[in-house]
Order: sequence, then C-alpha cells, then structure tokens
Amino acid sequence: MTEKTIGIIGGGQLGRMLAMAAARLNFRTLILEPQVDCPAAHVASEQIVAAYDDPAALAELARRCDVVTYEFENVPVHAAEKLAADVDVYPPPKALEMAQDRLTEKRFINGCGIPTARFHAIDSQADLEAALADFGGQGVLKTRRLGYDGKGQRVYRSTADSPEGGYAALGGVPLILESFVSFDREISIIAARGFDGAVACYDPAENVHRDGILHTSTLPAGISEQTAVAAREAADRILTALGYVGVIGIEFFALSDGSLIANEMAPRVHNSGHWTEAACVISQFEQHIRAVAGLPLGNPQRHSACVMTNLIGDDILALPEWLSLDDTLVHLYGKSEARPGRKMGHVTQLLR
Ligand code: AMP
Repeated sequence: MTEKTIGIIGGGQLGRMLAMAAARLNFRTLILEPQVDCPAAHVASEQIVAAYDDPAALAELARRCDVVTYEFENVPVHAAEKLAADVDVYPPPKALEMAQDRLTEKRFINGCGIPTARFHAIDSQADLEAALADFGGQGVLKTRRLGYDGKGQRVYRSTADSPEGGYAALGGVPLILESFVSFDREISIIAARGFDGAVACYDPAENVHRDGILHTSTLPAGISEQTAVAAREAADRILTALGYVGVIGIEFFALSDGSLIANEMAPRVHNSGHWTEAACVISQFEQHIRAVAGLPLGNPQRHSACVMTNLIGDDILALPEWLSLDDTLVHLYGKSEARPGRKMGHVTQLLR
C-alpha cells in the first residue's frame, strides 16, 4: 500500500494541499501542470510540465501512476476519458462532464430529484429576451462553461435592467439564464464516497462571498438539522448516481423556509471545505486521497466551531496579525505575487 504514486492533474493550491495529505500517508505525487513553480510543485514529489491534454504527458502519467485524480473541474473530458482507459481515474470522468456545463449540470441534478433554480438555455439575444420575460425580468445570466468565482455572469434585478446587448456582452458563447433565487444564506456540503460505496459527509458550511469570491465559511451553518439532513441526502444521491469515488463540493442556496436549491457542484476538494483541516481530525484533502487510493474513509466529524477566511490579494498583508491569534491555522499557497482577486492562502480560527 505504501510508495504508490498518485497523479494529480492541476498544480494550484488544491493540488498542493492534496499532495501534502498524500505525503503523510506515504504516497508519492506526480503533478501534471503547464506552469513551472506552481503551488503544488513545492510540495509534490515531481511535476510533468505540460498541458493538461498533452498526449505524451498523459501517457507518462498513466505509466507512472497507480491512480490519477484532478484538482479542478475543467480538465478536458476527452483527456480524462483517454487516461481512464490506461489507469484508474477518480472521480470518474463522467463527473467532470456533468460539472463542466451548467446546463448539463442542472439537468443532472434535477434528475437526481434535487431542485435547482429554473433555467433556460440561451443561444441568442432573442432567447435571452424570451427567458427574461418568462422570469419577470429577473435572472442571473451565466456562461455555460468555464465560469468560476462569479466570472462570466450578469444579474438582471428587474425589468428596468435592459436585456439589450446581454447575449453579446458575455462573449456570444452558450449561456444559461437562471431564475433569481432570493436566498436566506448560502451553504455547501463537502462529501466523499469510497470504493465500497460508503459516503461520509462533513457538516454543511455557511458561506459568504465578496465580489463573487468565497470570503468566509462558518461552522456550524445557521440552518436547522432538517436542512442539514437535506444537504446530506442530496450529496448522497449525486455521489451514488455518478458512481463517484473521491470528495465533492456541492453549493446550495438555503431559503427562508429551510428548503434547499442546489447551485453547483465541483468534483474535487473545495475552498469551502478548507476548514476541515483545522476542525476535523481527517481533512477533506486526506479524505480525497483515502478515497481515490481505495483506503477506508475517515470520520468526518467536526470537533470545533470555526470560521475559515480566504486571504485574497492584499489580505496577505495582515499575515502577522493572523499568526498572532490563538487557535488559528494559517495556510499559505506559495504564490509570490499578490494580485487582486488571487487566492494567496486561508486561515481557520477555531471558535472555543
Ligand atoms: P456561481 O458562479 O454559480 O457560484 O455564482 C456566484 C454567486 O452568485 C453565488 O454564490 C450567489 O451568491 C450568486 N448567484 C448565483 N446564481 C444565483 C441565482 N440563480 N440567484 C441568486 N443569486 C445567484
């Protein structure tokens, strides 16, 4: 079981934290990432410097790894499928396919019996105008693919927001218009499924975004036990439907009546699960490594209330203050330049 090699596609901070967790369990890690000196390269065993869909690099990954996983959901599906013919790839490429396109994702989630916002596919300005009319002039227009951290989105709050030029403004690519959800709060659940079908869910986190980027995750979330159970059940259904192996992050809007509307899922470890490294014995990163390596899942129980805060751009200047706090775990990503909007690290304060 020891000295096996886990391949990780993507070398950002999530790959870095996966590599750290893997090392503790005696796994070697081989990162596939085109950027040299990436966050994961500092802690992984080795890096292949090549594009994510480079055929020679994928062949090398298959040859040298016992299992391959990924740290971001935009790994080209054809590359993941090709790789899966030669080596075990977890989570299954089908999960990538379902998560990469917001339209496919919503249809899949609805197919699992889980509500989402209402939606229309938008392929022209006429589609946009008809869909907005259907939603009373309100809605959130999003690119179907490659959107993240609120990028590639436009909000229509009322009929006073003119739809004119809306389709072209997002680049003339396939879009989706979602009905506007008046939510009470945003929550997410981090869940894992093992080889044997066992599912382990962490407690749902309550998330606050700033400028479309996650700012804080707080535990416990201000939701009822019934709402928490609904989040767990939704995660269980999604994981089972995908024959999933690994950790997934699923985001929801919680309404004032306690019901949940699923927003999106990420077939990977998730920013809103970073708190698990401080407030649980087994972090989401170790859980993912355990799952993809075929080891038993760890107990996801939380031992403390906590709040995780992302350090974005210049937030990193407050590092001395964070380091001086008790019960506070600081985690930095090894990025030298603090550009605006760039995730530089995070801190988790245990509340006790
Ligand atoms: P997303 O990229 O889908 O995670 O959206 C980014 C953020 O925009 C979410 O975290 C919400 O705060 C907000 N948002 C997204 N979709 C909707 C919606 N349909 N209704 C209301 N707010 C939304």
